[in-house]
Amino acid sequence: VELPIHEAVLGRAAEFGGTPALIDGTDGTTLTYEQVDRFHRRVAAGLAEAGVRKGDVLALHSPNTIAFPTAFYAATRAGASVTTVHPLATAEEFGRQLEDSAARWIVTVSPLLETARRAAELAGGIEEILVCDSAPGHRSLIDMLASTAPEPVVDIDPAEDVAALPYSSGTTGVPKGVMLTHRQIATNLAQLQPLITAGPGDRVLAVLPFFHIYGLTALMNAPLRQGATVVVLPRFDLETFLAAVQDHRITGLYVAPPIVLALAKHPLVDRYDLSSLKHIISAAAPLDASLAAACSQRLGLPPVGQAYGMTELSPGTHVVPLDAMADAPPGTVGKLIAGTEMRIVSLDDPGKDLGPGESGEILIRGPQVMKGYLGRPDATTAMIDEDGWLHTGDVGHVDEEGWLFVVDRVKELIKYKGFQVAPAELEALLLTHPGIADAAVIGVRDEDGNEVPHAHVVRQPSAPELSEGEVMTYVAERVAPYKRVRHVTFVDGVPRAASGKILRRELRAAHEEPS
Ligand code: ATP
Ligand code: MG
Repeated sequence: VELPIHEAVLGRAAEFGGTPALIDGTDGTTLTYEQVDRFHRRVAAGLAEAGVRKGDVLALHSPNTIAFPTAFYAATRAGASVTTVHPLATAEEFGRQLEDSAARWIVTVSPLLETARRAAELAGGIEEILVCDSAPGHRSLIDMLASTAPEPVVDIDPAEDVAALPYSSGTTGVPKGVMLTHRQIATNLAQLQPLITAGPGDRVLAVLPFFHIYGLTALMNAPLRQGATVVVLPRFDLETFLAAVQDHRITGLYVAPPIVLALAKHPLVDRYDLSSLKHIISAAAPLDASLAAACSQRLGLPPVGQAYGMTELSPGTHVVPLDAMADAPPGTVGKLIAGTEMRIVSLDDPGKDLGPGESGEILIRGPQVMKGYLGRPDATTAMIDEDGWLHTGDVGHVDEEGWLFVVDRVKELIKYKGFQVAPAELEALLLTHPGIADAAVIGVRDEDGNEVPHAHVVRQPSAPELSEGEVMTYVAERVAPYKRVRHVTFVDGVPRAASGKILRRELRAAHEEPS
């Protein structure tokens, strides 16, 4: 049977009843499954009464809160497509997303109301701004819990109707609205099952944002579908995060590489009891095998597992199944999930399929491939070819057993005299230096017109003397000559997107500015 997303996720909520579904990690407020089920139906009724109709785009503009899932599923139950918005977006950025998505409704939280109002003014076309909590003059989702309006009966076609309209991270360019149908998201949730914790009794920590497809999937849809408990934090702060793992006895972490880095290297980690953890999974950006090993050894856990995906893939295609964590080869992002096909094709000759051990572009075909980019048919055809293959723009290879290894993005590869250097490989190597806390590498042109690796390095507080020469020598002793780092800049921090990805374009822009 094909179900709309709110039913695919909350279908067993009645069965889970009094089990805590969501716990506010800052004040302990708890919502049970019975409440989430009842609340999202009431709010759906309230939204319908406010005028939300099938096909309307509703912008959900909120940090992670325990109300976020209720707002999301209420909106889809009322027939809306939800476009999730970065809570730190400026009014201009938010306005562009509203305009691009032709949104008619905004659901925000009172602290963000001013930004939402200005964004609505800039974009136009907004029917009403509602709030999850309460604010004078605005309809509130909390008040809707008392609504006596009938539950809306909306005829949703899971195969065609867009449930979510997340924007890609904008790592490589302007963020694009990705149309994901109810079927695509629900199918992918079922496909990702081997990676997801068992259910009641398991606790995950929602520290990555729900507005990004990774958090939305791994920290909201997947655990709620299974009866697990989601402990919610509004933002990442290392001490609050570690305290939450300890105090809430978190069993599973779904994080991005910067958090694995902190867990592996940060001195604060030793002050907390993290013994409740059973596994850690990383996705969203390249994670090096030695960093993953340093993290799991320090915490006494099975190897850090990985998953791979992208917004356009609803989002997953590869996972290290939980029961294979100990046996998966180090550094792999996982095996292809059921019902999905993959090809790896030559970068020089895109028609040529490559075998195990050979790196090329990763192509995916399957039921989770997006419906398309909203309002950008050209970008959609550039991404998905006539035969339905989605060109990921990522470089990778598989081993003989089918484990996938992601090297980096095609666009990020540094081309040096006919060789290709992956920034991710050099970043991983730099992080093995005890004096380096963080690192990011980009290609810059040297006098001869070659692209050469330029490292941006954050020193460990314990290594204030670390010099450019030492960094370059450290790399030179460990890689082939063409991969050597040729320039080093010491920085206070590496710019990253909310999803944990290095924003290399910001580093590049800094180089293009006249100094
Ligand atoms: P935009 O497309 O707007 O530039 P983005 O590609 O960063 O932004 P997302 O859809 O959030 O937006 O990210 C998908 C990308 O994240 C993948 O294409 C891949 O480069 C990277 N990625 C995801 N998981 C992994 C992983 N396990 N290892 C390496 N890279 C990963
Ligand atoms: Mg992308």
